[in-house]
Amino acid sequence: MKQKSQVHGQVHGQVHAQAAPQAATPHKKGRFGAFGGQYIPETLMYAVQELDDAYTTYKNDPAFNAELHNLLNNYAGRPSLLYYAQKMTEDLGGAKIYLKREDLNHTGAHKINNVLGQALLAKKMGKTRLIAETGAGQHGVATATAAALFNMQCTIFMGKHDTERQALNVYKMRLLGADVRAVSSGTATLKDAVNEALREWTRRIDDTHYCIGSVMGPHPFPTMVRDFQAVISKEIKEQMRALEGKLPDAVCACVGGGSNAIGSFYHFINDPQVALYGCEAAGRGADSPDTAATLTTGSTGIFHGMKSIFCQDTYGQIAPVYSISAGLDYPGIGPEHAYLHEIGRAHYVPITDTQAVDAFEYLSKTEGIIPAIESAHALAFAMQLAKTMDKTQTIVVTISGRGDKDCAAIARYKGEDIHD
Ligand SMILES: *Cc1c(COP(=O)(O)O)cnc(C)c1O
Repeated sequence: MKQKSQVHGQVHGQVHAQAAPQAATPHKKGRFGAFGGQYIPETLMYAVQELDDAYTTYKNDPAFNAELHNLLNNYAGRPSLLYYAQKMTEDLGGAKIYLKREDLNHTGAHKINNVLGQALLAKKMGKTRLIAETGAGQHGVATATAAALFNMQCTIFMGKHDTERQALNVYKMRLLGADVRAVSSGTATLKDAVNEALREWTRRIDDTHYCIGSVMGPHPFPTMVRDFQAVISKEIKEQMRALEGKLPDAVCACVGGGSNAIGSFYHFINDPQVALYGCEAAGRGADSPDTAATLTTGSTGIFHGMKSIFCQDTYGQIAPVYSISAGLDYPGIGPEHAYLHEIGRAHYVPITDTQAVDAFEYLSKTEGIIPAIESAHALAFAMQLAKTMDKTQTIVVTISGRGDKDCAAIARYKGEDIHD
């Protein structure tokens, strides 16, 4: 898409308005095809470069990796189970379905994998304060958790609208010692929280690390966050070899920014016989205005420090997005997904609120597992896919988180008020 729209996209993400000169000569590193890069104001360049240098050093440091491995296993509870959903498999009558249980991790989602990696890196860099954006509050809770564990200060930026929708998570973050700042600009949701966190990082780069919650933002974030989440596919591969003696035929994961999905895909990207499916939130339908299905409806642009695909209006402004799931309610997608989509290595499918709610109820009743409504998007697609495959084939579905946080909203969706 047109250079003009890209410039508009930047102006909209106010903090980047001053970045226009850099935008013409993006950094060569951190590219996935044409996507990715570092479209940031000069004032952030130092912080991003310092982070890139530190990550490049520590990612190959055996002591760093041993410490991270210890935290993942003994604090977060890894490896997570790969569970054979036998009742669901028999009921659907097609491919064997395995669930990768990221919902069993400490704090209830995959977010902790990334947060522990970044918090440890920040500590090694001598930082004493973590800041983060959060939408539904899951990433904020994970970051506040790591800050408590590492004795670091913590400030979480959250859209004002989201603080009202997710009061319990706001309470948890404060209980863990974090300062939660409600952001009232724009639509007062996730993208505005990202803007505010970037602005705060610019103001205080000396002692502060910005712990981004998904595979988005300027390089090195999309690569670094992917590496920290890749533990998911590393384990799936080992567990499938042990359980089935072969690779899965398909892997399905939901996509907001795309961190649990890229984590689930990563070690299979070079195994072309494994089909990869990212499930986007279509909201009330990808053909309706109430959607967050970025790859189905979006176009190329520049926002939040990266070139990727975004939901945009006819002027190239970032479009308001909607999904029943606050965790998938982001108007963009990580640049590596934009690239995998472009080259056709992964397929991205829109799943509506209704389909996700049906899958949420189905898994609860069939297997006794209440999934996050985000994860239910992946499950809804896997349920259709399984029926088209035969019984010798296998599907792995990543259950990115647990559904406790969603029960009140789903009850409301179904017309019941449980006063949460
Ligand atoms: C945050 C979140 C997501 C969406 O984020 P990705 O970066 O796309 O993984 C999905 N599921 C759960 C449970 C989450 O908390």
